[in-house]
Amino acid sequence: MEWMIKQIAEKTGISADTLRYYEKEGMILPKRHENGYRYYDEEDMRILKNIVVMKYAHFTIHEMKRMEEVFLRSPTADCNEISKGILTAKIDELNQAISNYQNIVALMENLLPMIETTEDYYCNEKQIEGYGVPSLIKKLLYAKGVRLSYGVSLAMVTNYLPEYKVINNPERQKKTDENLNRIIREIKNRKSKQVSTFTALNELIFKFCPGEESDQYFTISEKCTSCGTCEKICPVGNITMDAGKPRFHHTCEHCLGCLHNCPRAAIDWKDKTQGKKRYRNAGGNTR
Ligand code: SF4
Ligand code: SF4
Repeated sequence: MEWMIKQIAEKTGISADTLRYYEKEGMILPKRHENGYRYYDEEDMRILKNIVVMKYAHFTIHEMKRMEEVFLRSPTADCNEISKGILTAKIDELNQAISNYQNIVALMENLLPMIETTEDYYCNEKQIEGYGVPSLIKKLLYAKGVRLSYGVSLAMVTNYLPEYKVINNPERQKKTDENLNRIIREIKNRKSKQVSTFTALNELIFKFCPGEESDQYFTISEKCTSCGTCEKICPVGNITMDAGKPRFHHTCEHCLGCLHNCPRAAIDWKDKTQGKKRYRNAGGNTR
């Protein structure tokens, strides 16, 4: 039996574009009729059915290729070991993903009451637990019996290098300045503004931010000149100079001030910041 691309796409639920991509990756090798049209045979169908199952289990293209390779070999102890290894790693990964999803669901459930009662977002005793800056402000004010009547987010220069490159174009700067001026005006005029749902959801992001021990992932390159700037700039005194090199003490707030302000760009975080432009705030340092 054979199928044209449209038919096999319908049968497997894999789009024609994706079928062509799998072909480019060498995962399936459809034959061609004389008129040049592709057709897929029973063997292609078998491979595609396996791919559909593996896609459900979030296998990467590389893992799918490995599994298919093993499938085509005659069964040997070596072969079994390879498939066992791939499957065990995948099971661990999926279990981890399940546990992450369960955490996210629990966090979202905790956030719901905050969103439904925005008026008391910052002063309800049940709601003072959380993560990140909004919760910190909330806790400090609650302890003093103060109610926050205005809360907004201000988008600024993007400088979180582990995920992004620095984005600081004049247009963005202009928008930030305009927004800041509006915020100043509103505060002066004693305007009330409830904290947005987005700000409440931000707490989820903070939950997954690297913690105090994230400094174990900093690396210092040979470009370091022992200038001591990182020690001076760290807002929580997490860095001391030790034999001419910065030493981190696991109380890191992950502000990345040290990384951005090192005059030699000698500090990196994992392999995610290498070669990326640093950003130094013209207005001063983080201390
Ligand atoms: S700021 Fe940079 S160059 Fe200076 S001591 Fe720290 S890592 Fe070394
Ligand atoms: S400057 Fe910021 S990122 Fe660097 S060690 Fe101190 S708290 Fe951590």
